[in-house]
Amino acid sequence: MGDSRATLCKSGARLRGQELKTEEEKRATRRAWEAKNVESLRATRHAWYWRNVETCRAKSREAQRKSRERYRSDKGSRKARQAEGRLETTRVCSKCGIEKPSSEFHYARCLMCRREQKRTWLITNPEKQRACNATWREKNKEKIRKQNHARYARNKPKHREQAYAWRQANRERDLEYHRAWGKGRRSSKEYRKKQREWGRAWYLANKERQLAKSRAWRIAHKDQFHVYRNRNRAKRREAKGQATPEQIAARVAFYGSRCAYCNGPYESIDHVVPLSRGGSNWPANLRPACKKCNFTKGTKRLLKWKAA
Ligand SMILES: [Zn+2]
Ligand SMILES: [Zn+2]
Repeated sequence: MGDSRATLCKSGARLRGQELKTEEEKRATRRAWEAKNVESLRATRHAWYWRNVETCRAKSREAQRKSRERYRSDKGSRKARQAEGRLETTRVCSKCGIEKPSSEFHYARCLMCRREQKRTWLITNPEKQRACNATWREKNKEKIRKQNHARYARNKPKHREQAYAWRQANRERDLEYHRAWGKGRRSSKEYRKKQREWGRAWYLANKERQLAKSRAWRIAHKDQFHVYRNRNRAKRREAKGQATPEQIAARVAFYGSRCAYCNGPYESIDHVVPLSRGGSNWPANLRPACKKCNFTKGTKRLLKWKAA
């Protein structure tokens, strides 16, 4: 055979000579050519794939669907057979070859092998995986947002509890985070205005609740409350001096925790010389008083009020 081909070639019948190549030889030639043109072949294939990407994807989806269907029907019948006791409850994994219960299978492979394969792929293709995830997220932004919302709504109490616990455990980081978050916003006038509006709206919507809350706080933190209030008043009137909770408590104790004027119940702290008349916030200017005394005294001087 080789001889006849050689003669034909010599005689110039090249086409016929090529036809005479055996299948084996043809394949070898092709392989050699492919090895030489790996890059261009890949580019061609790529170009072709992306030109026909929709068709390709549809095809693969269809194939997947078919295989799923086949698997399901198979599974169904397997189940039926299993129920009748005509089926072995174990299978042999096509990858590791170990016999395992049928429930631990995904298609022909056992779940361990499947997991292993996935893990290996993730480790060997981190950029691909990241890129893939990013593209998917970009494409499904709206879906993700909806899902997150739904999930949050479903587990709201749990989420809030968790967030609260985290904030308690990571106070510093939480603060830092908030500072960083608010930095740009707080410096913008518009945002501050918005914030005030939000606060106002919230207050109006929750007025009763908020009032009850602050009332409860005032009762529970009497001394602290006076410190704050005095500080605020002092600020308003630019009064001098300040008193710590301990100092106020000492003043209250000095008057036996009673009103310094009528011996009634101790309900508030009075400025002997009113702040409006240049009185200070030094402990010496503070006395416990009942609400009535404090109120009727108002901005009057002590002697004038007593005379009245
Ligand atoms: Zn396996
Ligand atoms: Zn009184």
